[in-house]
Order: sequence, then C-alpha cells, then structure tokens
Amino acid sequence: MMKYLYFALYLFGIALTSTTSTTLNAYLEERERLITEEKRERIGSNLVLTEKELQVNGIFMDERKKTIKSAIFNNTIFPPALNFFKTKHLIDESLIFQMISKMPKGGALHTHSTSLVSTDWLVQNITYRPNCYMCRTFDDKYRFRFFEVAPFNPECPWESIAALRRESVNVAEFDKSLYDKFSVVINDPEIQHVTVNDVWDDFKEAFTMIDGLIQHTPVFIDYIEQAMEEFLQDNVQYLEIRADLPMLYNLDGSKYSRSYCMAIYQRQLRKFKLRHPGFSGFKIIVAGDRYLPRSAIWADLQLAETLNHYYPELMAGYDLVFQEGRGNPHLFYINELLAVNNLSYFFHSGETNWQGTSIDNNLVDAILLNTTRIGHGFAISKHPAILQATKERGIAIEVNPISNQVLHLVHDLRNHPAAMLISQNYPVVISSDDPAVWDATPLSHDFYETFMALCGQNDDIRVLKQLALNSLKYSVMSPEDKERAIALWHQHWAVFLDEVLAMTSSI
Ligand SMILES: [Zn+2]
Repeated sequence: MMKYLYFALYLFGIALTSTTSTTLNAYLEERERLITEEKRERIGSNLVLTEKELQVNGIFMDERKKTIKSAIFNNTIFPPALNFFKTKHLIDESLIFQMISKMPKGGALHTHSTSLVSTDWLVQNITYRPNCYMCRTFDDKYRFRFFEVAPFNPECPWESIAALRRESVNVAEFDKSLYDKFSVVINDPEIQHVTVNDVWDDFKEAFTMIDGLIQHTPVFIDYIEQAMEEFLQDNVQYLEIRADLPMLYNLDGSKYSRSYCMAIYQRQLRKFKLRHPGFSGFKIIVAGDRYLPRSAIWADLQLAETLNHYYPELMAGYDLVFQEGRGNPHLFYINELLAVNNLSYFFHSGETNWQGTSIDNNLVDAILLNTTRIGHGFAISKHPAILQATKERGIAIEVNPISNQVLHLVHDLRNHPAAMLISQNYPVVISSDDPAVWDATPLSHDFYETFMALCGQNDDIRVLKQLALNSLKYSVMSPEDKERAIALWHQHWAVFLDEVLAMTSSI
C-alpha cells in the first residue's frame, strides 16, 4: 500500500514541478515583454548604433554602472543626488563628464543673456578694464558701473576698482570677493538657501551687479563674442537666448535705444561665424519682465514685433521671465498677449512645485497661446492634457536640470519629473538656463546630470544622441539652416567617437 502512496506522491511531485516551471516561464516571458515594451517608449530607442557607437556606448554604460554600484554598495557620493555646488568637483573628475564635454551637444535652447559668460572672465577681463567702478549701499548691496568720471553718489559712493585692487592686501582675495558677488555658489546651500525665494533673491542680486558691467557698450560687444567662444568650446554649436535688450550706456552716461542691442548681436554673430564655420549661430527671444505692469509689457511686445520685422533672421519670438512664483502669471497679460499677431511665444511655464496655483496654470495658458516650446515645464507631469498636447503638437519642453536643483525645485535629480518625460519619449531638449552664475559649463554639466540621473541605468548613448539631435530639431532655425546644422553635428559626432576611443584606449 505504502509503495503505491510513494509512487503517487512521486508522480504528483513531477506534475507540481512541471506546472511551476510552465508558470515561471510564462511569468518570465511576460516580464521580458513588459520591459521591452517600456524600452521601446524611451527617448532614442529608435536609433540604431553603429559598431563604433556601440564601442563608445560600452564605455559610457560601464562607467555609469560602476558609479551606481559604488554608491549603492560602498556608500560613495552619487553626484546628482546632492546640490551641484557640493558635487561639481566630483563631476569634473569623472570620465563620463570628460567624455560628455567632448560630445557635440547641438544647441542650448534655453539660456539667458545675463548669464552666458563665465564669472572668471567677468572678473579677470571686465573688472580689470579702466574706468570700472563699484559701490556699496547702506544695506550692503553692491553695484558696478563704468564712468569717465564717477559722479557724486552719497547713497552708494563709487570707488575705482583698479584703486581698490591696488590697495588690497591680497589681489587674489580681492578678485575672489568679486567672483563671489557675481555668483550664487555657496558652501552651505541647505542653510543659506532654505527656500526658493532665498535663492532667487541672491540670483537677482547677482544679475543686477553683472548688468552694470555688461551693459557698457564696449563690454557688451566683447561679451557676446566671449559667450559664443565659451559655448563652442563646450561643443555647443547653436543657441537661443532670452534677452532683455537693455539700453546700453557709454562712459559719458549717454544711452542707446534698446534695439541697438540687436544690431550688435547681428554684427557679432556674422563676424564670429566667418571665423568659426563650425558654429551654426543663435537667435534672440525677447524677454519681458513679468514684474512689470501691463502697459510696459504691451510696449515690450510692440518692440518685439518691430524687431521681428527688421531682424527676421535673428529674432525668434517673445517670453516672460523672472521668478514665476512672485511675478505676474501669463493670464495677467492675456489681453496684450492675445492682441499680438506676428510673434512666436516661448513661455517659461510651470517652474514650480505649487500645484494648482497661477504659476502651475501658466502651463495651460502657454498651450492656449500656442507657445512654440515650454521653458522648464517642471510641473508638467501633473497636467495630462498639456502633456498630450506637447506630444501631439511637437512642443518641446526645455529641461534645465541644474537650474531646477539650484533653485530648489528638486534636491535629488533622480526625482526630476523629466525622468518620466524621457521614459515616454516626450519632446524634450536639455539646456542650462543660467550656467555662469552657478559656475557650470555652458551645457556639459546639465548633460552629465541628465545621463546619470534623469536616465536609467539601462539607457545608453542613444538618449544623449537623440537629445542633442532634438535640440536642433526643435530649434527655430529655418529648414535649410537646420539641415546644415544637423549635417555639421553628424561630422562633430564622428570626431567625438574617435576622441572617446582615443582617450579611453590607455585606461
Ligand atoms: Zn530661464
């Protein structure tokens, strides 16, 4: 009897094993199917890599895996998880950053005219020029300006920077104090920059000081050229610049009209392109200040329309800038914005964590006002209808990872909402917003953070390649210029692959 029982159990055991293995196989197949389906949705998944690209890809993937593994098991710092101010030195030392620096990144479509040039250049070049003055107000604010003869100014007495530097005990320390003024970088951002408003206050102060220097006409001319030099040096071939078009001043205090900036932009661009055939150019998006009254924005819009007429190749359109949280929402200017017929919009929208507020709803107005792209769109993951519209209408979202971290929208960049946008192939471009004031390179640091944190461990260089191509695709270059720029980019990409293989061959 027992013999039969053992036999029955034996058979049942086999049946059980066989059923389990069938179930497990089906489970694993279904699992693989889901993973593959998700992979197909990601940015860059349609690209097919060449043999050489696969080699370079292997280097990128291995390096990132090593960094992630070390962070998980050895508790080493994963740079994107901490404030950029604290991790820049680690990023700079990494092979991934060094490779990304060499990568042709296409265009930077979200930049601002007051933060295009490194702070080092402002200090070492601009403040060393003759006739440069600074003053300190009673409430401890600094201002900078060029004068033939500095006027009497009891509220903020002007002092020659050359004289102050001469009289300083330590010139390097004096220069460092200037550098600190033009930058928002601090050692303890968690303590000094507790809220978004704290950073923005520092940020606006830095711009006011920088403005006093770069609005001096000869400085402005050199500044534009230096900006193109620095972006090209960082392998960025094209820019779209939000520009406030200030009234440039001369040593005697006389000023030009705002449109004179455009003449300088155009002249400097033409000269630069003659010397640098690898540069595809830039375009200007006139940036209105969202703190201004409606009448001032109306005047601004009319100026932009006029400039559109006189500088059709240089002008891209119009945007409202400065802190969305404390400034006026798009809706405040709705009559003025609707009354304009001949201007493309590029609205900063949804640069906030405050869901359901007027800042958040700027995204809705941006779409209704037919924006060409969305600046930041940090809040967009909470707006399914807006998300759908971006995909259907090809409205690119300009993601600026370091800006969002420095301005306290997200601490750990792995939690940045653009990770979702990348996972579902939304029209995304990576840009840098105001890289100079937080001491970032023109675009490489933002691409580093994107590859390390906004992408997953299994995303490969196809994402980087597609993001670079997106920046040209979603630019507002003419179709012919775009085609030329993309052809040029492919040449740069081929050089980049060889450079990476050469630099890593000895490792
Ligand atoms: Zn911006």
